[in-house]
Amino acid sequence: METKKVLLTGGLGYIGSHIVVSLSDPSSAIIADDCSNCDLKQIDRLKQVIPFEKNQVIVCDVADLEAFEEIFKKHKIETIIHLAGYKAVGESVKQPLAYYTNNLNATLNVLKMCNKYDVKHLIFSSSATVYGPQSSPMDESMTLLKTTNPYAETKAISERMIEDYCLVHPEFSATSLRYFNPVGAHPSGFIGEIPSGIPNNLLPYVQQVASGKRPYLNVFGKDYETKDGTAIRDYIHVMDLADAHVCILNNPKQGYRVYNVGTGVGTSVLDLVKAFEKATGVKIPTEVTHRRAGDLQESVANASKINKELGWKSRYSIEDICKDAWNFEKHQSN
Ligand code: UDP
Repeated sequence: METKKVLLTGGLGYIGSHIVVSLSDPSSAIIADDCSNCDLKQIDRLKQVIPFEKNQVIVCDVADLEAFEEIFKKHKIETIIHLAGYKAVGESVKQPLAYYTNNLNATLNVLKMCNKYDVKHLIFSSSATVYGPQSSPMDESMTLLKTTNPYAETKAISERMIEDYCLVHPEFSATSLRYFNPVGAHPSGFIGEIPSGIPNNLLPYVQQVASGKRPYLNVFGKDYETKDGTAIRDYIHVMDLADAHVCILNNPKQGYRVYNVGTGVGTSVLDLVKAFEKATGVKIPTEVTHRRAGDLQESVANASKINKELGWKSRYSIEDICKDAWNFEKHQSN
């Protein structure tokens, strides 16, 4: 009989790739990805890090039920790690219907396949943005407020869809992981985040300033009520985040669970710039500009629930993150 497979939707992307290389048996992974935000060269990058076969990747749109179902006809899927979805906050404000259509249909199709093909476990890639504008540290007992953009709303609605499914399938095991700010790269330098066009996120932008692709970093606001006036985030190394998924895979539990995945440490924009300069020896010129619309002053996890219940804890420091991000950037530029 075929070994039981782990299906990663959107698995060729930044986070999915790091999860695949962290699995104890990467040959059990099947990736479904429509390559809308990555390309098939990612397979070669994965092969540099782990034994991996091209036929483990199925190019398919998860929101297209007929195409997606083919995977379940061919493979016995025991677990789904559902990462597929559009993820640009600013774009989601401009194209709400595209975000609701794509992201919610993808989650719906995942649940339909869980039901039809008796999938046992689901791990959902959620986001700290589901908390909406609440004060930090944010913990899982907080009631979710209306979020500030359609991207975040699709994550919050997907969580509710999964929770409702669990209510009528008590034998099913589902976990939503609320990611804080995933950054950094695999220490090998072969895989990491490859932004398309101008990076929206802070560290990828800093990386490109360091490599000379951009002249300086725009600091979005220095008038926040924080120690240096810049906004605070909880940056988590993508390898720590990947490890949290492996921890859930190793500890399945019937019913629905939610965990924050963060470090619990707040880092300001200027702290991150300083850490990057210290870790790499490269100077990052900055210019202060106005706040970015919709940004929170502070977003930091209370990460004690996953630590207490499952023993997971972040291991990488902000300096490690910067070092690995820079190592990856240099690999890319070569
Ligand atoms: N930021 C910045 N310059 C940039 C990109 C981001 O000052 O070019 C700031 C942004 O305003 C926020 C922090 O860096 O306070 C983290 O932004 P990112 O987009 O990485 O994450 P998010 O805001 O989604 O948590």
